[in-house]
Amino acid sequence: MSGKEFDVVVIGGGPGGYAAAIRAAQLKLSVMLIDDRKADDGKPAPGGTCLNVGCVPSKALLDSSKHFHHIQHDYVAHGIKVKDVEMDVKQMITRKNGVVKQLNGGLMQLFKANKIEFVNGTGYLLADRQVQVTTDEDTTTVTGKHVILAAGSVPFTIPGVEIDGQHIVDNVGALAFEKTPKKLGVIGAGVIGLEMGSVWKRLGSEVTLFEAADELLAVVDTDMARAAAREFKKQGLDIRLGTKVQGAKVSRSKVKVTYVEGEKEQEATFDKLLVAVGRRAASEQLVADDSGVTLTERGQIEVNDQCQTQADQVWAIGDLVRGPMLAHKASEEGIAVAETIAGHHGHFNLDHVPWVIYTDPEIAWVGKTEKELKAEGVGYCSGSFPFAATGRGLAMGEASGHVKLLADAETDRLLGAQIIGPNASELIAECVVTMEFAGSSEDLARIVHAHPTLSEAVHEAALAVDGRAIHKAN
Ligand code: FAD
Ligand code: NAD
Repeated sequence: MSGKEFDVVVIGGGPGGYAAAIRAAQLKLSVMLIDDRKADDGKPAPGGTCLNVGCVPSKALLDSSKHFHHIQHDYVAHGIKVKDVEMDVKQMITRKNGVVKQLNGGLMQLFKANKIEFVNGTGYLLADRQVQVTTDEDTTTVTGKHVILAAGSVPFTIPGVEIDGQHIVDNVGALAFEKTPKKLGVIGAGVIGLEMGSVWKRLGSEVTLFEAADELLAVVDTDMARAAAREFKKQGLDIRLGTKVQGAKVSRSKVKVTYVEGEKEQEATFDKLLVAVGRRAASEQLVADDSGVTLTERGQIEVNDQCQTQADQVWAIGDLVRGPMLAHKASEEGIAVAETIAGHHGHFNLDHVPWVIYTDPEIAWVGKTEKELKAEGVGYCSGSFPFAATGRGLAMGEASGHVKLLADAETDRLLGAQIIGPNASELIAECVVTMEFAGSSEDLARIVHAHPTLSEAVHEAALAVDGRAIHKAN
């Protein structure tokens, strides 16, 4: 392998790196993809954080725990009586591992079908787009006419709280508990904290979330965050805002957490503690000083709008660079970079990246929030509609939440959408499409939506922007 040259060498096989590799191969470029992740059985585990210890396994557990919860709490209303419901956590984890393994295998087949040279090892960028590749067997050097850095991210840690993988865990450990912890503490009520906290709460844990900020979900609008906080409270999640964890110690299989709430230092004891205080770019041990690639103060790889680094024909994408740390953002950047390298017009719009938090109800948004529009001095009109006023929401027994749309006051162009409620993760797509086509709330209002569907709430919210929703008093 040493001395080989490829059109494109990709370091990191997550949703950013593998999508870039596949697209580049489709465009007839020769591609090497290097990924260091291995499964427990020693086999390659491509797919990055997202497939192995992120999006996919967490959603598998979210679904399993939802089934358990619905059987216990919601089926009776449908006339379904189920006796002796029991949770087999080991089986749930085995199923989740099976889903991941199946997708790992699917990716390996795609690499083969696309004639991508896949290496299960570590890549390190040297000068002149040479890449040092270290596997279990040897270390060699290859050259890329282009190199795409896609090494992703790793969890932040906090001083005084050491992850031991057993009692104090990060996302990896929280996706693999062998039994439901009686008491689960979570540091950080962000996306991971809320999603994983919800999973284990539904399975029977007593869950306490410590959140340093005074406000829950500051990234969404206040009404949305309030609606979410109300739902989480109803579900029994104990979210302590304005609390800063000082340290955590394991003793006799329990974790003692010290935290400051207001001015007061306090203690609490848990069976497990999840640390979910954000993630940072995995840029250490990735690029040599003379590679020409520069880092920002936050340790991200510095790139321009096209994901070009400071080094000629070296690109960086996904969690390694600015912008939201989301799988679909990483993939779309990867595809755009591959197309640009092949001489096409890679297209990617950072302004229209949808977000979804997979709690129950789901929370999804795209574009600007009201807070942002006010801060920017942009005039807007808003329209909202509750799922409780839709036939489908009530028929499903999932009628909490609402849709809110924001449109430019002068042009009516759709500027933002926020949805909390059933299937928000799917419903947001219509808003993304409308925004990407520079559509207006009137466009959405004039599109025929099937009845009875949840998407009628989006339709009615669009009508409400103009004060003419049918199924609510305007
Ligand atoms: P990664 O997926 O991190 O992949 C990078 C890969 O490169 C890794 O396998 C890494 O081991 C490997 N690597 C690193 N350095 C090297 C090297 N030097 N040589 C070779 N290989 C290397 N996002 C969503 O959009 N939706 C979700 O539902 C969602 N859920 C999440 C749940 C959890 C618990 C977590 C932790 C994250 C979640 N995310 C979700 C975020 C998502 O996982 C990331 O945004 C996404 O994985 C980033 O993709 P990436 O390709 O940039 O990096
Ligand atoms: P996050 O940034 O979403 O939340 C971290 C939270 O921890 C913040 O609210 C922060 O105020 C709090 N915090 C920080 N230090 C603290 C301390 N010392 N004590 C108490 N609270 C503290 O980060 P995350 O939940 O770790 O997730 C990381 C990233 O992974 C997300 O930002 C997102 O990009 C990605 N992710 C996405 C999804 C999804 O798309 N559904 C799911 C999981 C993760």
